Amino acid sequence: MPNSPVRRPARPRFFLGPSQRLVGVFVLFILLPGAFLGVFALRVLRQEGQLARQRTRERLERTAEEIGRDLNLEFRRWNDAARTAAGVKTFDAGSFPEIVRLALLEPGGGVYLSVSDKGLEAFPAGALLYVSPAMLPSRTSPSRFPAGLAEAESLEMAREDYPNAIRAYRNLLDSADAGLRPLILQRLARTLRKAGKPGEAAGAYRELQRLNTAWIGGLPSDLIAQSELCSLAAERGDSVGLSQTAMAFYRDLATGKWLLDKPRYLFYSDRCRTWCRESLVAPDEFDRVRTTEERKLALSRAAEDLLNLPRGMFSGEANAHLAFWNTDPFAMVVLSADFLESRWWPQLLTTRGEDLEGTLSTPDGQTVFGSPPSETPPLAVTHDFRIDDTPWLLQIWPVRPEAIYADIRQRQALSIGILAFVAVLLAFGSYITVRIVRRELEIARLRADFVSTVSHEFRSPLTGIRQLGGMLLDGRVTDPVKQQGYFRMIVQESDRLARLVENILDFSRIEEGRREYRFEPLDPTPWLRKLVADFKAEIAVTGAAVEADIPDGLPAMSADREALGSAVRNLLDNAVKYSPGAKTVWLDALAEGGEIRIAVRDRGVGISEQDRKHIFDRFYRADGEISKRVKGAGLGLSLVRYIVTAHGGTVECQSRVGEGSTFTIRLPIAPLTGGG
Ligand code: ADP
Repeated sequence: MPNSPVRRPARPRFFLGPSQRLVGVFVLFILLPGAFLGVFALRVLRQEGQLARQRTRERLERTAEEIGRDLNLEFRRWNDAARTAAGVKTFDAGSFPEIVRLALLEPGGGVYLSVSDKGLEAFPAGALLYVSPAMLPSRTSPSRFPAGLAEAESLEMAREDYPNAIRAYRNLLDSADAGLRPLILQRLARTLRKAGKPGEAAGAYRELQRLNTAWIGGLPSDLIAQSELCSLAAERGDSVGLSQTAMAFYRDLATGKWLLDKPRYLFYSDRCRTWCRESLVAPDEFDRVRTTEERKLALSRAAEDLLNLPRGMFSGEANAHLAFWNTDPFAMVVLSADFLESRWWPQLLTTRGEDLEGTLSTPDGQTVFGSPPSETPPLAVTHDFRIDDTPWLLQIWPVRPEAIYADIRQRQALSIGILAFVAVLLAFGSYITVRIVRRELEIARLRADFVSTVSHEFRSPLTGIRQLGGMLLDGRVTDPVKQQGYFRMIVQESDRLARLVENILDFSRIEEGRREYRFEPLDPTPWLRKLVADFKAEIAVTGAAVEADIPDGLPAMSADREALGSAVRNLLDNAVKYSPGAKTVWLDALAEGGEIRIAVRDRGVGISEQDRKHIFDRFYRADGEISKRVKGAGLGLSLVRYIVTAHGGTVECQSRVGEGSTFTIRLPIAPLTGGG
């Protein structure tokens, strides 16, 4: 196949330069996976938060179930107690579980009711203030009346002959047996009152009050007496007397001394309260009795309703009551939800290992225990269950949900903190790595440049030497003065070559850590003067000049003559190289403050602040026109710094772009020993 000239396109570079490629690799293999991982971790964190909330909810649900089971168990015990009590003839509070017993003993707390042929029995006595008339035990008024009673009543009622009626009642009273005395006494007192003898009437009522209770027309005789005494006192305007009698009457009523029917109870209770308010009853005591009465009224209302229609709960206007019953023989325990709520409900919640609040209600929203919150509290859980046939709804929630949330949040914050730390570490690590690798790449590039630059550097002196040597060899230069000049130039060029080689060798020795210094006593003044003179001679052909100010008698110091000489020469070389317009450079030496200062100054191109930071780095060459035109390997200044540092000194650069630069070497005068 004939070789046709095919123009191959230059190999496309991957993206851009190597450092951009590096950044690409970093983004692709470290930052992107890092970001993915970060996002993933954040998602996991969020899920963990949700999971923690879910776990809390599940725990609460389990707790709600447990409470439900406990409630069921307890309600059954109460039910069983009601059943057992129904079978017993005589029972006492001890037959009931502790909390039921306490409720029965508390006024308004609860009541045990049993219904038999004898009618309704309530335990404890006085627990109810009224029952429906149908439930009232039969209370018979005396059936046989003394012969004269009808006559006396006729005198009182029909003829309104009170004096004779009074006399007739009194006679009857004297001969009456104990069973009839209350009835006759009540009529006597009544007639005395009608006859306008309130004092005597009051006496008779007081006597009636002292007698054993007898039921007269469906009312207890002592109740009638107390009521009439109050009425008399009120009539007389006897406020003190009224307050005492009314209060005593009200107390008796409220303790449930007499089991009345509802209208009668409410009538007398109402009158009592009016009397109490009209007289000067101590408000504290009145309120106490009133509170007890209200609780008992609520219980009586509940009992009345539940006896009518037995069921699990009665919800009155004020508070609810729970009922547990046995059908045959019928017996029922009615318990005030208020009482249970204050003594028993909190215990049921607080024994769960965390602070809980809750409500127990019926599915139609009637609350039995606890106060329902206005809005659903956070983390609230609901549990519905049945006890026998009654459905219940239990809702519980933690008292301090913030504590639970705070715990979750704290764990999340810790994880986020660690994540952020890792991210920062990653970012920092990436930055440092990119920097280091870029720097290394830069050095690799500089090293590559170095080879070509050095070859170039070698070429020009070598060419000069070869041409001059050739001319001399051919005998083309006959003038001895010219010959002399050529020989000098050959020597100078060789010197330059030698210095160049020396620099490179120095550098490689330093790099490999093999550079050793031979310190010896050095008298700076003659040494520097000779150095400057040699340098002047070298550059004479270029037309450049050095102005030196080297005072006599600079103090002697210990130094490696060769090495230090090469350092100063490098500075002079640079000063000349980088002063394309100006012909003169300056060298000033000075001894001050225990050190010798050698400053090399030029009026050349100057060095930017950015470059000043790096010029002492190996292979570094400032970017710019001048660097392109001026030969150099970027080694000179790095060598200067190595050498000066090895002498225990420092080198610094002051410069202004366009105005020139000053490099100052400071060396300690104190003799140095050793080297390396
Ligand atoms: P080079 O072989 O390039 O001169 P050096 O290490 O001696 O290497 O110098 C490093 C760089 O510092 C040079 O490339 C040049 O840009 C800058 N430089 C050094 N001396 C001077 C000076 N006197 N004036 C301006 N720039 C200078």
